[in-house]
Amino acid sequence: MQVKELLANIRTKMFVGGRFVDAHSGKTFAVFNPATGAEIAQVPEGDAEDVAGAIASARTAFESNEWRRMAPATRERLLLKLADLIEQHGDELAALETLNQGKQFGFAKMLEVGGSAQWLRYMAGWATKIEGSTLDLSIGFPPGVQYQGSTRRVPVGVVAAIVPWNFPLLMAVWKIAPALACGCTVVLKPAEETPLTAIRLAELAFEAGFPAGVLNVVTGQGETAGAALVRHPDIDKVTFTGSTEVGRIIGAQCGRDIRRVSLELGGKSPVIVLDDCDPRKAIEGAANAIFFNHGQVCTAGSRLYLPRSKFSEIVGGVAAIADSLVLGSGFEETTQMGPLVSARHRDKVAGMIAEGRAQGGEIVAGGRAFDGEGFFVRPTVVANERRKPLSLVNEEVFGPVLVAMPYDDIDEAVHAANTSEYGLGASVWTNQLDSALRLTDRIEAGTVWVNTHNMLDPAMPFGGFKSSGVGREHGRAIIDAYTETKSICFAY
Ligand code: NAP
Ligand code: MG
Repeated sequence: MQVKELLANIRTKMFVGGRFVDAHSGKTFAVFNPATGAEIAQVPEGDAEDVAGAIASARTAFESNEWRRMAPATRERLLLKLADLIEQHGDELAALETLNQGKQFGFAKMLEVGGSAQWLRYMAGWATKIEGSTLDLSIGFPPGVQYQGSTRRVPVGVVAAIVPWNFPLLMAVWKIAPALACGCTVVLKPAEETPLTAIRLAELAFEAGFPAGVLNVVTGQGETAGAALVRHPDIDKVTFTGSTEVGRIIGAQCGRDIRRVSLELGGKSPVIVLDDCDPRKAIEGAANAIFFNHGQVCTAGSRLYLPRSKFSEIVGGVAAIADSLVLGSGFEETTQMGPLVSARHRDKVAGMIAEGRAQGGEIVAGGRAFDGEGFFVRPTVVANERRKPLSLVNEEVFGPVLVAMPYDDIDEAVHAANTSEYGLGASVWTNQLDSALRLTDRIEAGTVWVNTHNMLDPAMPFGGFKSSGVGREHGRAIIDAYTETKSICFAY
């Protein structure tokens, strides 16, 4: 698809109640192409009033017989239809993501488009498999009366879904697919940097046959539109993916309001290479773990722990890969790494690298942002051979920055890996089965990979220990997140 044609067809309004709408204030804000810094569109800057309108649409749709009493098999078919439509419009959606988020077109096609279709199809299957149980109650009072209990899982209601900018389409689908499968309705707020595919997703859902108001998209700023969504009394559940900092604000508000909330937050995921691992495999694995999606991945393998005897060899190998990566527009076939999502994010990442250098980290690859057009930062490897307390060891960068550290015995490596406020992902690289089992047991993280990293699947629960979040997405566990248990008790 030609970029010119794409630009001419971008949807630049919010999608509420089955219609495209402007913000009631008429205000808009700019979204950019991070590869050039050029403005690509103006989208509505929704505020509390727009949010209230979208919630009213979602509430009306939730209460309507057309949605609430819809046969689960019909919900399933609608989700499958949406997956088909996403694939049919795959080139357009992937190109939109490349244009607005910066990732390579091929990646966008495979991961955002392909992943979205896969997640939708998996979740579609759950629509017809939501079940409760029948219980014989243990207390028989008054004498002669018996009771039978049963449980049902009923949709939680109107869901506020707030997502980040790293995988705009896929993150939106991770929220809406299970919510819709369970019979909820949704108001989705995409990140201010990347609203375009979310708008198109809502339009395609309407085209697939979801009733008006079942999926609404409000664009706007987190502090205004996002905050208004979280505190609105007619929201039954908030599902949020983003930073731990914002997660704390949302969690506190939901705590005060006794509102259901799921939080998928930040990470500082360790990669631990064991002595037996082939260095070539470790080098390739570590480079993929951190540089995938330009390091803008919540589970990015950003801390590398290496046996001291192999430190120089493996760090040198990862640095060589970093130096070889070709940066450029995601539309160029030769590009291996795109820009970061925004000028603000580029400056944050560059600032953190500078801080790491000032604190005594040795920059062995990259280490600089480009001055020219676009928001590029060279993939960066920082050797921290003396294990100095660099900020880079503890703080999430959310960019292509790896800090590598040696260890002398494995207990020390496990202790260092677990010394983090985060606990989202981790990987262990070894062919020794007993070592792998011991480490998967001891590492504090929601997902521990062995000989791979960043591998996610709709069937596998995903979420964080510690400050990386509350709750799990995907798999069977997701049904609990979008339903309430209702107990029903019969006396006879
Ligand atoms: P962010 O600043 O926390 O923003 C995430 C979303 O929350 C955006 O839509 C944002 O809107 C909105 N928001 C901001 N302030 C808000 C408020 N006070 N109330 C309600 N909503 C608010 O995160 P980000 O910079 O977009 O994304 C990067 C972060 O996400 C990283 O920390 C990363 O680790 C995390 N992440 C986690 C996972 C996971 O599954 N665990 C996956 C991906 C990313 P605006 O865009 O308008 O600010
Ligand atoms: Mg933001």
